[in-house]
Amino acid sequence: MKALVFGEKPEQTASLAAYLSKSIQPETTYAAAFTEYSPTELETVGGAGVKKIYVLPDKNWHAGPASTAHALSELAKQNGVDIVVVYASKKGNEIAARTAQRLDASYASEVISVERSGDAFLVKRLVLGGGYVASLLLRHRPSVVSIKPASENIVPGDKPVVERLNIVSDAPEVKFLESIKPEKAHVDLEKAGVVVAVGRGFKKKEDLAMAEELARIIGAEVGCSRPISGDLKWLEEERHIGLSGKRVRPSLYIALGISGQVQHLVGMRDSKTVIAVNTDPNAPMAIESDYFFVADLYKILPITIESLKKKLVS
Ligand SMILES: Cc1cc2nc3c(=O)[nH]c(=O)nc-3n(C[C@H](O)[C@H](O)[C@H](O)COP(=O)(O)OP(=O)(O)OC[C@H]3O[C@@H](n4cnc5c(N)ncnc54)[C@H](O)[C@@H]3O)c2cc1C
Repeated sequence: MKALVFGEKPEQTASLAAYLSKSIQPETTYAAAFTEYSPTELETVGGAGVKKIYVLPDKNWHAGPASTAHALSELAKQNGVDIVVVYASKKGNEIAARTAQRLDASYASEVISVERSGDAFLVKRLVLGGGYVASLLLRHRPSVVSIKPASENIVPGDKPVVERLNIVSDAPEVKFLESIKPEKAHVDLEKAGVVVAVGRGFKKKEDLAMAEELARIIGAEVGCSRPISGDLKWLEEERHIGLSGKRVRPSLYIALGISGQVQHLVGMRDSKTVIAVNTDPNAPMAIESDYFFVADLYKILPITIESLKKKLVS
């Protein structure tokens, strides 16, 4: 079985290849890129299982998703791949859909898993706001999926073979007019080893200072449930964890005043150890936690911060 993977960034391509080598175990994994990879990046994608990387003209990328999809679909046809797997970023989802249309392929977007099932691919997707998991069989070859696997610790390996291909796109060109820089510094929640996540259990924006202080002391990143960033705008969008936000997998996840709705759980389920603080003993987060404290965060946080400070001083 042959797979073609594509992510906008080398680490995304690597995480797709690493995920596939565990799940469907393709005999050959090809990757597509629109920029040259550095030697280190090549070793990373090689370690993830990519055997050959095709470097396509960057104008295929800059001309927009239609042109990128054209290049990917041509590559898929030339190599007779069974599945095209695109990293499910916003742009990636559009590219994947357009690639599937060009290949007349079966397509599932933003899946949470891909497995082999006989001659077909069995994919799972969250549906109805993340409350249910739908299982779909993709029987046609090739199939196309978009997925955002959690980042893996990839051991660098042999560099893949690099081939430069000139694919002339027939897609209409999209003109680049301007780019708007995000105001805030980038937060790399997905790579954080420890995350302190805050939810609606906090009554005021100023109270988040407690969580921020705890995070500073233990060297954690601050994340949040969607209402905190989306509805209340107390934190930046890029800090929200879950179905419509970031997927994190830290060694330690501390959930403060988060109920644990499925849409949130999707984003933190791969955490190694979960500690939660909640006043409600029946909050769904209780089932997901290794240590669940039925407590008022307004009481437990100041005590924890003080005792950590004392320990650090002594
Ligand atoms: C399509 C869709 C996508 C979504 N995507 C996401 C997503 O990606 N991420 C996400 O997080 N949500 C998402 N949601 C929203 C999700 O359904 C929940 O509404 C949200 O996760 C709830 O956030 P919360 O746990 O902070 O708030 P709540 O559900 O209101 O929970 C607050 C918790 O705090 C506890 N609490 C209250 N006071 C205290 C106190 N003093 N001390 C300790 N605990 C206290 C309460 O017991 C309660 O359990 C999505 C919803 C939809 C429909």
